[in-house]
Amino acid sequence: MKKNGLYVRPIQNGTVIDHITAGQALSVLRILGINRTTEEVVSVVMNVTSKAIGTKDIVKIEGRELKPSEVDKIALIAPSASINIIRKYNVAGKHKVDIPDEIEGVVRCANPNCISNTIEPVVSRFTTEKQKTGIQLRCIYCERIISENIVEHLL
Ligand SMILES: [Zn+2]
Repeated sequence: MKKNGLYVRPIQNGTVIDHITAGQALSVLRILGINRTTEEVVSVVMNVTSKAIGTKDIVKIEGRELKPSEVDKIALIAPSASINIIRKYNVAGKHKVDIPDEIEGVVRCANPNCISNTIEPVVSRFTTEKQKTGIQLRCIYCERIISENIVEHLL
């Protein structure tokens, strides 16, 4: 066991989401549907020092592996995150989240008059742009930009 840097005990099976942008751990929980009624064993560490990104948050969930759609949403709010799948205390899979150039049907446009928000069956589509502070989304229909509180706009 490492003497330093061990903020939460190792888990037997589950997922460790590391290198979450500091302050975004609660948004990650929200994406994963984890709230006060959850019965899952969840550990949250916030604002720890990270060599790679300054400060970071970490979320550990026991007994659960993430769906690709959940990973895609996490990428939008925590573009530096890495997902470690743990099986029998070992890292069985490790991958960085990946931000596609375009996302479809994941985020609702902030413009109420946008065609993707009307009764027309138009699926929301955004182009993505990585910036220092996070991800910026631009609606391909109305050009409205979403750069803050993306979690509030997730479908
Ligand atoms: Zn729009």
